[in-house]
Amino acid sequence: RAYIRSASKMMRDRLSPGYLELVRELGKIADAMGLEAFLVGGFVRDLVMSHKNEDFDVVVEGDGIAFARRFAQVHGYRVHSHSEFGTAVIIMEDGFKIDVASARFEYYASPASLPVVETSSLKMDLYRRDFTVNTMAIQINEKSFGTLIDYFGAQRDIKAKAIRVLHNLSFVEDPTRVFRAIRFEQRYGFSIGKLTSNLIKNAVKMDFFRHLSGRRLFSELKLILEDENPIGAVDRMAGYNLLPFIHPDLDFGPEKQDLFESVKEVLTWHDLQFMDDSYMKWAVQFLALFHGFDQDQVDAALLRLEIAPKFHDLFYEHRQYGRQCLYRLEREDKMVNSELYRMLTLLPTEMLLFLLARAKSKKAKRRLTRFLTELKGVACLLSGKTLKQMGIKPGPIYKKVLDAVLDARLDGKVFTFEDEMALAVRLINDANA
Ligand code: ATP
Repeated sequence: RAYIRSASKMMRDRLSPGYLELVRELGKIADAMGLEAFLVGGFVRDLVMSHKNEDFDVVVEGDGIAFARRFAQVHGYRVHSHSEFGTAVIIMEDGFKIDVASARFEYYASPASLPVVETSSLKMDLYRRDFTVNTMAIQINEKSFGTLIDYFGAQRDIKAKAIRVLHNLSFVEDPTRVFRAIRFEQRYGFSIGKLTSNLIKNAVKMDFFRHLSGRRLFSELKLILEDENPIGAVDRMAGYNLLPFIHPDLDFGPEKQDLFESVKEVLTWHDLQFMDDSYMKWAVQFLALFHGFDQDQVDAALLRLEIAPKFHDLFYEHRQYGRQCLYRLEREDKMVNSELYRMLTLLPTEMLLFLLARAKSKKAKRRLTRFLTELKGVACLLSGKTLKQMGIKPGPIYKKVLDAVLDARLDGKVFTFEDEMALAVRLINDANA
């Protein structure tokens, strides 16, 4: 039996008017097509918990693709569909996306003596989900707009702050749910329920992760490491003995915990300072996770996680070079701006932030923050184009001159365009002499 109540006031109070209208429009199309349609999953969970979430997941009892197409056609949006899964994504002109899935009627043959059961397709769809807290649905058809349907005790578990699976074979079906359980627990300050916790221990003991692809394992870890509280989550992974599934030697001792704390501080500082989240947060956390590993160990971990070759530089060349840079930043007495710039400009933001988290002395920290805040964005006024206009024949001299002019600017030796020109002319004359 489902627990049913009205959530329409909650929708009105917690959804912005534009989104509320969008949901109503979706409901109208469902009505016109004679389909029952629901918002489900993380969106409903976060609505009930008053967390911001604008990821709309719609489940339609019937053909979700036809529904998505009709909605898109009426409003002039685009649709991507996957007929083999019965799913579609509606893409609005501003890029906003709505996921649509089809719940099909299913008939389950039950043990011989009992009749065949026909189950509501919505209920079956929700039953296949990972945790009870993710199993609520809100109907969006006009006549029952805002009806919240809770078959599996989601509201009870939200009150109890518990993450629970729906049945005992949940982790057998999909072991990535172990990592998802930890992520949701840490994100919401919940606890994994006793039975669910025992099922996780069993999954570890029985090594359910052996056949889990690196791609799926990596994508769950990435989500954990990009969430608000990765330290708590990594600690939980260590507690359940899950880290060895990434690499047998991976641990989370006090030293690594301190490093993670320090990474957290650095990332908070960086995000506030630059309002820029275009770098890969997960990569900084992975560098921390693998800290202390030799190259062979990193190799094995990257292989297990099937981390794409485009990220390998960070964990090989940059990791090695970054270590040398930190050594110099900590020890060298004098380092002028241009020297600092030339050394650090070869490193991506992810490694620079990791080095800042690792830096021990005030001197090294100051140097790294100086590079990030003051030097990294410096450019000279003169360009290759200027040199061309001066009639200089393109060749290695261009780079030599432009580098020297930039160095002079970094070291405060030139200020105006004329200063730069004078320096360039001098350098070119010297080269020609
Ligand atoms: P987030 O806020 O992190 O995006 P979410 O709950 O929206 O959380 P998604 O990964 O976007 O998470 O998944 C959407 C829904 O699909 C979830 O609410 C869950 O019900 C279901 N789901 C996702 N992954 C699984 C899984 N491995 N097993 C079962 N159900 C899953």
